[in-house]
Amino acid sequence: VSHGRVALVGAGPGDPALLTVRALELLRDAEVVAYDLLVSESILALIPADAELLPVGRRVGSGHTGYRLHPDVLARAREGKRVVRLKAGDPLVFGRGAEEAEELVAAGIPFEIVPGITAALGAAAYGAIPLTHRDHAAQVLIATGHGKGGRQEPPAPVPGRTLVLYMGARHLASNLAAMVAAGWAASTPAALVIAATTAEERTITGTLATLADRAGDAMTELPALVIVGDVVTTRAVIDWRAGLPLRGRRIVVACARSGPSRVAFALRTAGAEVLELPDPARFPSRIDLVVLPASSAAEALYADAPAHVRASPAVAIGARTEETARRLGATCVARAAEDSIDALVAAAISALDLDLERRPPVLSDRRSPEVTL
Ligand code: SAH
Repeated sequence: VSHGRVALVGAGPGDPALLTVRALELLRDAEVVAYDLLVSESILALIPADAELLPVGRRVGSGHTGYRLHPDVLARAREGKRVVRLKAGDPLVFGRGAEEAEELVAAGIPFEIVPGITAALGAAAYGAIPLTHRDHAAQVLIATGHGKGGRQEPPAPVPGRTLVLYMGARHLASNLAAMVAAGWAASTPAALVIAATTAEERTITGTLATLADRAGDAMTELPALVIVGDVVTTRAVIDWRAGLPLRGRRIVVACARSGPSRVAFALRTAGAEVLELPDPARFPSRIDLVVLPASSAAEALYADAPAHVRASPAVAIGARTEETARRLGATCVARAAEDSIDALVAAAISALDLDLERRPPVLSDRRSPEVTL
């Protein structure tokens, strides 16, 4: 008798701190995690190394697939495995989660659906652009630049309605021009939010007329969405992340014990994207800093760490931790006192500033920004 089950889980926009409690619990329990290419590396890093990781997403232009639920997902569930089908954002917002659920019903496999923070909400909060505002907008339209049949017609302008355009960044100039042709004022404020909530996040603002030029070649391989409407002007006032000293930085905190970490909490509050990895861990390709709270944590982290993790600058808390880390081949650049979280945050900031002089942060990611529906 098979007891396989599938959880269709929203991974949120990228910052692992935005996973739901249920999502994290399911990831830690999963035997198989089948993920989309858009799921952030930082979230994949949280999946225990003994779970099977299956990339099942498509890249742009790979065309029509003959299935709605990936055959490997179905096969693993039929073998009796606990499978998490991990999707960027929310599984039911441009995520084809319902199509997969329909297949699971047809196959008689039990499943659950766990919501995630959809990209629009992540971009709104971290990009400091409200989707509604009593002075600007009482409605929101979540739309896509792409549909099953290819390019979509732009939605008509409605006064007092914010538009969030998913999958519209790859052909940004032509998408915005099509909106102007459809009757939108060229002076309508617009923002491009790239890799919202992650250490690679960038937000570029302008108008329907200027945004594409301003974005220039910022359109790397990262996911991005467009927010259009007067609400965009609010960002200039409430950009709460602008002054955070660790904004745009990805920090790995080695953890020896489970439970909430004061160190991780403090680094997040200072704006960093913080990863607390399980042991044994997977590692993201870009790490800006490693923080080592204790000797045992350093031992667990470096036991199977690849070269790029050892080469990442590390801050050790306490002399004994530093000694252990050096013995394990870590690149210790600073030591913080054992009894002060503030001193640790300050050490992290100065270690990253030093590092910045040697190695400017790069916008790089192996993922494709566009997944067509
Ligand atoms: N189910 C997902 C959307 C998948 S469609 C969700 O609910 O968010 C893929 C599109 O989502 C991308 O083309 C991009 O427009 C948007 N997207 C996903 N993650 C994003 C992020 N971190 N920042 C900006 N846009 C993102």
